[in-house]
Amino acid sequence: MLRYLDGPGQESDPDRHDDDLIPQPDPSEVDDLDFGPAVDGDEPLDAVRVGDQDDQTDMLKQKIVGLEHRIGYLERIVKVSQMLNSTLSLEPLLQIIVQSATELTNTEACSIMLIDRNTGELRFAEASGGVSSALRKISIPMDKSIAGYVIRKNKPILIRDAKNDPRWHGDVDTTLDFQTQSILGVPLRVRDRVIGVLEVINKTTSEGFNEDDIQITTTLGLQAAIAIENARLLDELQQAYRDLSQVDQLKNDFVSIASHELRTPLAVILGYATFLKDNVKGEASEQLDIVLSSAIKLRALIDDMVNLRHIQTDGVQLERSIFSLKSLVNDVTKEFSQIIATKKLILTTKFSPEDSLLNIDGDRQKVYLIVANLVSNAIKFTPEGGRIHVSVHFNDHKYTLSVIDTGIGIPKAEYDRIFDQFYQVEPPLTRKYQGMGLGLSIAKGMVQVHRGRIWVESVVGKGSKFVVVLPSAPDVRDE
Ligand code: ADP
Repeated sequence: MLRYLDGPGQESDPDRHDDDLIPQPDPSEVDDLDFGPAVDGDEPLDAVRVGDQDDQTDMLKQKIVGLEHRIGYLERIVKVSQMLNSTLSLEPLLQIIVQSATELTNTEACSIMLIDRNTGELRFAEASGGVSSALRKISIPMDKSIAGYVIRKNKPILIRDAKNDPRWHGDVDTTLDFQTQSILGVPLRVRDRVIGVLEVINKTTSEGFNEDDIQITTTLGLQAAIAIENARLLDELQQAYRDLSQVDQLKNDFVSIASHELRTPLAVILGYATFLKDNVKGEASEQLDIVLSSAIKLRALIDDMVNLRHIQTDGVQLERSIFSLKSLVNDVTKEFSQIIATKKLILTTKFSPEDSLLNIDGDRQKVYLIVANLVSNAIKFTPEGGRIHVSVHFNDHKYTLSVIDTGIGIPKAEYDRIFDQFYQVEPPLTRKYQGMGLGLSIAKGMVQVHRGRIWVESVVGKGSKFVVVLPSAPDVRDE
């Protein structure tokens, strides 16, 4: 029964006190404890010798009372355990533990002290009657307090006369105007780590703390520690999420302001460069071509930033209309015709059914961005003389659009990540291709708001195939 006792090896511990449950307690003291009718380790029922009938009946009655007592205790523990499992919010959780501990052990008060993970200080987290700001301010010394002792020894302790104990830290009683007499304290352990102490104070019944109280407090302490740790982890996770959202918001604001501020002067540069190009000839005209094409690249980057902001704002609005996918693809290829010619690429298209306009109900501007980003990547990542093929196929209320190139290809391990914002397969410091790593995340966002899907298939060194499946109308979902 005395499972809290240590072996003789602990005898020489200088920190040891006679009323600890930890090292060997005074046997007479243990005998004084009323453990109630025992169940575990008693003689089995069928071993009772046949003799006096009344004796047997009495023994059986006693055993039944003992069993009922245990069942009652177990029922209460199970109920508390259910309550602990039902909340992940730290404050109500601590209140349940404190209330249950006092009820189950018939004590005047209970307190929970937790170790602050940042400062290492031991502080009140909850107590019967709540934790006042004065109580919260108290830092309980680890080396000169009963709670600190429980933590250092990582074992339960029972003190019958707290005031005369050298480890007694009276500040709390003074702050609370409370009289502590006896304390039963258990460590709150998570795996091999002690995170705090649970103390029940002043047994209200005359016989004092007993074995049941030790068992109850220990069991409660074990469950409470896990529940507290889970609630704390959830708190930390929620805080981290809030911090992250804040940083994300800052980034969005920055992108939004920066793109807006860059657009205006760029429009002026483009305007003047175009005007000048129409009016000059020769070398100056060629130089203006370079200015113009650089300004256009810059505008594309800024457009990416603006578009990204759109898909990050929840609930992107679709401006729906019925439009022809065939003519959209043709418009995109026209937009890139000059660079396709410069890179000596061969671009082909195929539409099926051939005679159809391939009309779709969607947001043309957003679908245009999808196709333009895929085609622009195909051009960028395909060496001179390579081929690009764009096809649209309608079947089963869905459009399947493919952009195939004979470019550098993408390793399989990167298939998912290339759709992440700012992700590029090439290492940033040795990059030879321009871009910000936003095109595919924008394309993916636009596909998703149309309830479609996008993926890639590729062979490194041979080429890539990007596939987009879009439902033909808003009430159709591609899954
Ligand atoms: P960006 O093109 O601006 O770098 P994207 O989001 O459009 O950004 O693409 C992300 C990355 O995916 C690219 O940097 C590239 O590494 C890879 N990628 C995209 N399309 C292709 C393609 N057609 N061929 C090879 N790699 C590609």
